[in-house]
Amino acid sequence: MQYRISQQAAALSPSLTLAIDAKAKQMKAEGRNVIGFGAGEPDFDTPKHIKDAAARALAEGFTKYTPSSGIPELRKAIAEKFKRDHGLDYKPSQIIVSCGGKHSCFNTIMATCQPGDEVIIPAPYWLSYPEMVKLAGAKPVIISTTDATEFKVTPGQLEAAITPQTRLFILNSPSNPTGTVYSPSELKALGDICVKHHVLILSDEIYEKLVYDGAHHVSVASFSPDHYAHTIITNGFSKAYAMTGWRLGYLAAPEPIAAAIDAIQSHSTSNPTSFAQKGAVAALTGPQDHLTEWLQEYAKRRQIAHEWLNRIPGMTCVNARGAFYLFPNIAKFGLDSRTFCARLLEEELVAAVPGIAFGADNYIRISYATSLANIEEGLRRIERFARRLAG
Ligand SMILES: *Cc1c(COP(=O)(O)O)cnc(C)c1O
Repeated sequence: MQYRISQQAAALSPSLTLAIDAKAKQMKAEGRNVIGFGAGEPDFDTPKHIKDAAARALAEGFTKYTPSSGIPELRKAIAEKFKRDHGLDYKPSQIIVSCGGKHSCFNTIMATCQPGDEVIIPAPYWLSYPEMVKLAGAKPVIISTTDATEFKVTPGQLEAAITPQTRLFILNSPSNPTGTVYSPSELKALGDICVKHHVLILSDEIYEKLVYDGAHHVSVASFSPDHYAHTIITNGFSKAYAMTGWRLGYLAAPEPIAAAIDAIQSHSTSNPTSFAQKGAVAALTGPQDHLTEWLQEYAKRRQIAHEWLNRIPGMTCVNARGAFYLFPNIAKFGLDSRTFCARLLEEELVAAVPGIAFGADNYIRISYATSLANIEEGLRRIERFARRLAG
């Protein structure tokens, strides 16, 4: 039997991160002492008051369909969060609760992009963006950046990539995989270019709470009514509340775009899980002090890992200003990132993600969402591996 796979599905690349992760898990199951730097999720548990709220909702029988774009209570709490954190005014009808921040990005791209459209994505990028754009039948246009500019795209680069077909610019600050955080003036300059050329901005702000060195996250939508009118903000509960398995995210968009996304969602997933939404209300309206503790811990790990990586002969690593990743440069070792990571796993039992997965083959991604003990042992092994490669 010959199965015809749709053009859109056949165009997708399978996830490299998953392949590495599967191999590392298999090795662990075989009893080998693998150190995992591949994780894209916090190693902390969901705060108790959030779990309690969801458990209560479940016990009370809150187990039926909800409105497809989320319960009013949660959409209101999200609107209040945008006001509180960014001074942004959204009506609950402009907020869509989805099954994860990833789903919010997907819905946004589906609602705004079609065949013939171009979407500008700075590299290194989160690996799902180009695949989502291809699924919509549109064309990803990649702008490359390097560690020499802290992986920041300039307004000049952005403007040069814009054509009459450009529909969307995808911005992810703080960034996965680099940890880059744009300054407010840099963000505004990029936003100005998009406003000038009537290009929409998908601003993925999932790591907004994870910033270091006293930095404060600013949303590109907050600079002017024009910036607001051009921006769709996506966010979620996975990173700031350690709720990756709950599958809950949200977006805020201009009214007509939110209405289109509401329709898409009503015919695909329908509502995100009912009792999980009650947990999310508790997340937004309850105490936020877990974040202070997590940030201190992440900051300590980041400092140790960043200093250690830069001490390894041949390796250089710009410091991350947000998220929980470092993105060291491995070009001097003369291996492509896939070979580098495969050998690192094989020879030293350390799992890291090859930069090629993010459109940047000279780098590897190290997640420090793991214990200090793991970080120290993993870096000891990476150093031994690097010294052996350098001969
Ligand atoms: C983790 C992540 C998301 C969303 O994750 P969900 O679990 O789907 O909420 C979105 N964008 C980036 C860049 C991420 O790293």
